[in-house]
Amino acid sequence: MTTTPLLPNIVAGKAQAGQGPGTPLFDPVLGTELVRVSREGLDLASAFAFAREQGGTALRALSYRERAGLLTAIGQVLQAKRDDYYAIATANSGTVTRDSAVDIDGGIFTIGQYAKWGEKLGDARALLDGERIRLGKDPAFQSQHILTPTRGLALFINAFNFPSWGLWEKAAPALLSGVPVVVKPGTPTAWLTQRMVQDVVEAGVLPAGALSVICGSSAGLLDALQPFDVLSLTGSAGTAAQIRGHKAIAERSVRCNIEADSLNSALLDPNATADSEAFTLFVSEVVREMTVKSGQKCTAIRRAFVPRALYDAAAQAIGAKLSKVSVGNPRNEAVRMGALVSRAQFDGVREGRAQLLAEAQPLYDGRNQALVDADPAVAACAMPVLLGTSDPVGARVLHDVEVFGPVSTLMPYDNEAQAFELIRRGQGSLVASVYSADPAFTARAALELADSHGRVHAISPDVASLHTGHGNVMPQSLHGGPGRAGGGEELGGLRALGFYHRRSAVQASTAALDALAASTTPLTY
Ligand code: NAP
Repeated sequence: MTTTPLLPNIVAGKAQAGQGPGTPLFDPVLGTELVRVSREGLDLASAFAFAREQGGTALRALSYRERAGLLTAIGQVLQAKRDDYYAIATANSGTVTRDSAVDIDGGIFTIGQYAKWGEKLGDARALLDGERIRLGKDPAFQSQHILTPTRGLALFINAFNFPSWGLWEKAAPALLSGVPVVVKPGTPTAWLTQRMVQDVVEAGVLPAGALSVICGSSAGLLDALQPFDVLSLTGSAGTAAQIRGHKAIAERSVRCNIEADSLNSALLDPNATADSEAFTLFVSEVVREMTVKSGQKCTAIRRAFVPRALYDAAAQAIGAKLSKVSVGNPRNEAVRMGALVSRAQFDGVREGRAQLLAEAQPLYDGRNQALVDADPAVAACAMPVLLGTSDPVGARVLHDVEVFGPVSTLMPYDNEAQAFELIRRGQGSLVASVYSADPAFTARAALELADSHGRVHAISPDVASLHTGHGNVMPQSLHGGPGRAGGGEELGGLRALGFYHRRSAVQASTAALDALAASTTPLTY
């Protein structure tokens, strides 16, 4: 029997193999075993101590500009090995090239943005937050808030769907802040994260301990966290709930950011018609969001709202486009949509879809189409299914169950206020998109939806060829959402640095605050 390679963890600045046979990772299309991961026997306490003491100390000794230079160097290492990463993504994530790009090039792009923004922060090692504020009548004694990098590590527990971008969108602001990173990728697709970290560490572009990867079980990771560490989880609401109850957060006040699941919405203007450009833009985006990465995007459109008069026309137009989506082996150039990441996810999608079907009917059902170049008994390929209900007000499950695959539900609304109310039934989401040629409606929708969404993406005909996409997370804009979306905040340009810094008020004389100002730089967005 041939055994597949065991990927090493990268901790304390070097490769360290776990013990035992490890957990196999598979090709979700062919069903073949690719590699294995294990972290059995790793000494987490000393790995974390090395990151904090060696990695953190070395990073904090550098200025923002120097750390921006490290990000540039990481980007160069990754750029040089892009082909390897695409090959791993095809094999282990089952994605077509276009979908692998969202993850791989999206990650490299985000690093590049933070390198540019960091360069502008110059030679300082701490940030000024706002202006000085007088504490009394005499202006000689004032308060100045400052931000200094936390003296701990950043632990990222990531989801399986973005093994590259999910690492770098967090690591770029963390490293720029001077905080060492330990990433635990989602196990089914851990290979790409592991390889990228190994490449960067072996290239020697970072101080030892600045970047580590631990693959496999999450057991004990939180136990090893200390008060100045920070923790980011990207994952399901169930895992988020377990993490929130852990002693590290409850008793040691480890700062915690959670990006969880979300029932994102798309909303078509109440005055749109079936021949309007807003309608066409809406239809294209719903189809794109259902099919990019086989719908395995936390930001994907799960609920699509149209004025009741356009329900049938929208169902037809979306269905017609979905019928042209070929699904199967991503190595075949005729294939537009690859696989889910595992057979377990395939089963999860099937179960979730069955739950939605209790309250909805299929409006387009791709399940009767044949797979291209893939065996349906083996491949984790899910066909797109558009569901619909004429009674979204009476529905419960449709506003509550996130199916992490190519499934979306079309819902009619009767008036503007009802549309906003239905969207809010998602209990807080990452993104809502609005399709309208009317700036006044768009502005009203933005104000109505902003409090329950981390991002409102408004598409009008004048930005049809310019917009960045409902589901694409741009580093310039906030990513995260309130309520069931996890309550987290990431990205948003330099706002992201806040999570990795501690805010403190310095109350002192003008002369002391002048000296402080000379060695810091104002944080402006
Ligand atoms: P998951 O099962 O919650 O797993 C997420 C991560 O948490 C994995 O690394 C997992 O490790 C780890 N984990 C599981 N149980 C844990 C525990 N008790 N303590 C500590 N860590 C634990 O989620 P998933 O299935 O990988 O990802 C899909 C979900 O993520 C979807 O609901 C999606 O909406 C959400 N998501 C959200 C965003 C966002 O930015 N908001 C982005 C992507 C995905 P193992 O893999 O080893 O189990």
